This record gives sequence, C-alpha cells and structure tokens, in this order.
Amino acid sequence: MSDKLSWINDEMNALQEQGLKINIRTIGSPCGAWMIVDGKRVLNFCTNNYLGLANDARLRQAAKRAIDEWGVGPAAVRSIAGTLELHREFERRIAAFKGVEDALFVQSGFCANQAAIPAMVGKEDVIFTDRLNHASIIDGCRLSSAKILIYEHCDVADAERVIKENVGNYRRALLVTDGVFSMDGDIAPLDKLYEVCEKYGVMTMVDDAHGEGVIGRGGRGIVDHFGLHGKFDLEIGTLSKAFGVMGGVIAGKKIVIDWIRQRARPFLFSSAITAADTAACLAALNVLEQSTELVDKLWENTRYFKTEMKRLGFDTGVSVTPITPIMLGEAPLAQRFSQRLFEEGVFAMAIGYPTVPKGKARIRVMISAAHSREDLDRGLEVFAKVGRELGVIS
Ligand SMILES: *Cc1c(COP(=O)(O)O)cnc(C)c1O
Repeated sequence: MSDKLSWINDEMNALQEQGLKINIRTIGSPCGAWMIVDGKRVLNFCTNNYLGLANDARLRQAAKRAIDEWGVGPAAVRSIAGTLELHREFERRIAAFKGVEDALFVQSGFCANQAAIPAMVGKEDVIFTDRLNHASIIDGCRLSSAKILIYEHCDVADAERVIKENVGNYRRALLVTDGVFSMDGDIAPLDKLYEVCEKYGVMTMVDDAHGEGVIGRGGRGIVDHFGLHGKFDLEIGTLSKAFGVMGGVIAGKKIVIDWIRQRARPFLFSSAITAADTAACLAALNVLEQSTELVDKLWENTRYFKTEMKRLGFDTGVSVTPITPIMLGEAPLAQRFSQRLFEEGVFAMAIGYPTVPKGKARIRVMISAAHSREDLDRGLEVFAKVGRELGVIS
C-alpha cells in the first residue's frame, strides 16, 4: 500500500532544494531592538514594532489593569455577548484618530480583510486588485466569490483600463489596494486611484496595515498622508504592527460599518478580542495622540539607515517607508546572507518566493523607533561585513 502522505516529503524536499523552506525561529524575550532568538541575544530588524510599543510600560500597565477589571476572555462573539464597553470606546477613538465616521474592531488585520470584502461584494460583482496586494486581501477577495481582476502594481492607467473594460458587466465593483506594500515599502497612488474610482462609480478600500502609526500626520496613516479623509469607503488597519498589540480595524463611512457589523463572518462567528489587548490598543492610541516623538524617531532612524546602506553600495529597492528591502535576487543567496547576519548577531529575515516574486529575494530590514543610533551603526557594520564576504558589495 502506498503511503498517502509521502507527497509531503517530496514537497518539503523541493522547498529545501530551492532555498524556500521557512526556518521558524523561537523568541525568548519581549519584542525590542535586542531580542533572544533561538537562545542567542541579537539585534532585531525583523519585527513590525515600528514605534517600539510592543513592550512599552504604558501598554503593559493598561493590559494588566484590564485583566483585573475584566478578566482574561469575553467567552462570546461580539454579536452575542462579547461587545465590551472597552471595544466600543476603542472603536470611537480609532475612528476619530483616522478622521472617519465609524470603525469596527476585529481580531486581526487578516480577519478584517476576511470580514470586510465578502460583506461588500458577491458573485455578481467584480474586484479590481493590485498585483502585489497582501495575502489577506487576496484571500478575502477569493472568499467573496466575486470576479477578481488584477491591475499592474501601482499603475493607475492600467487600473483605469481594467475598470473601464469590465465595470459595466457586473452589479457592483470594489477596488482594493494595500496602502504601504509590505515587501517593497512603496505606497499606492491613492489620490489618483480615488479619482478613477469616483469616475466609474467603483467602491474603494485601502489596507493601511504598514501605514498606521507610520505615515501621515502623527502616524494617522495613508489616507491622512494623501489628505483623503472620509473619501475611501473602507480603511483596513491592524493594531499588531506600529501599535504593538493585536487586532484589526475596519474603518469608514457609518453606513458601510453598520452593514459590515451585520455581515462580517469573523465578527459574527469568532470570539471577541480580549479586554487586555483592547486596553493596550487604547493606551497605544493615547501615546500617538499625545506626541509625535516616536513617529519622528522612526523616520529619523529610517533616513539614517537607508542613506548609510546606499553609501555602502546596497540596493535598497523602491521603498519610501521604514521597510528597507536589501535586494539580493536569488533565494539561496538571501538565505545565506540572513544566516551569516545571524551568526554575527543581527536578526534580519530572508524573504523569497512565494512571498515575493521569483528572482526578487531579499533581506527585509524593519527599522524601529526602538533602535538607538548605536544599534543602527552596529547593524550597518555587520551588513557591510557580510555583504563583502558574499560579494554583494565591494
Ligand atoms: C500584516 C498585514 C495584515 C495582517 O495583519 P494582522 O493584524 O497581523 O493579522 C493585513 N494586511 C496587510 C497589508 C498587512 O501587511
């Protein structure tokens, strides 16, 4: 009898040979500039902890207090008995922060896309989507059963062409784009996309996961960056990146959020986010509203690190945000590079296919306000050493 699971070994071996097998490291300390990774103390360039809030004393304190006041879990979905006063408070506060009418707080950014997209379009409808949109958007689109039409990355003319040729054949249409693209660090031409969508009556949605807490005034995100407040029908956010906690947000016009509250399956069929997480998110919002200090520090660090990496001769791609890809080409080189960095005490992840296209493997450096100038200099020194050793720079 043949082994019905032997195909898994074949697939795993193929991944290994192509340098695409994911090596999952185990973290032994809180998230910060330095972390214990697989038992070793290393300088961290891997997390999305843009503002250093993941281990901030103010957030920890808020979470602890919330546990004492509310317990550890709501034990219900939001629509039955899981909607806490804290959830509602956070929704009001995040809506005000983003300059929109209303917001819905869900378990994660991933969930937010699964929740929002199928509520807005179905099988008689069409979605126009950027070629490089995040996996959670892609899955949300597939779940909706709508026709999915891809336009070229950040290409407004191509988006208009695809919309013009197809929009008349469907009941409703939705355009969806990442705000900041997580692998390249470039940003969507939101203002131009908005104009095109208005012209053809297409609903608009932007996923601001890497923009929130990073771009816009005081970290108010991509819509603020473009001054498009209240214009996008849906804004997706995550509290797991710059905010340092956990959770997702669907924000936008009241009519849209009211509808999504009736229809969003992760909201209706999966339990509510905990009071501790919610309180920590509120504390993060307080920090952001009180001062731009952390956002300013993040950008100062970003400018310094990118300038110095370019000076060393590295190709840092097209990023205009703190996401700093170090373009290396083939996946095995990127893996080797990451491994050597780690041996030298620097933790920076190699990213290859299918997360990025074949031949576009890279190391992705995530800059944070938690890094000191000394940390960045240490990182640059190790990048220079490994880069020369592997023949990437001279
Ligand atoms: C990270 C990310 C998500 C997922 O957010 P989580 O809160 O971690 O689930 C969704 N969309 C985009 C664009 C992201 O970069």
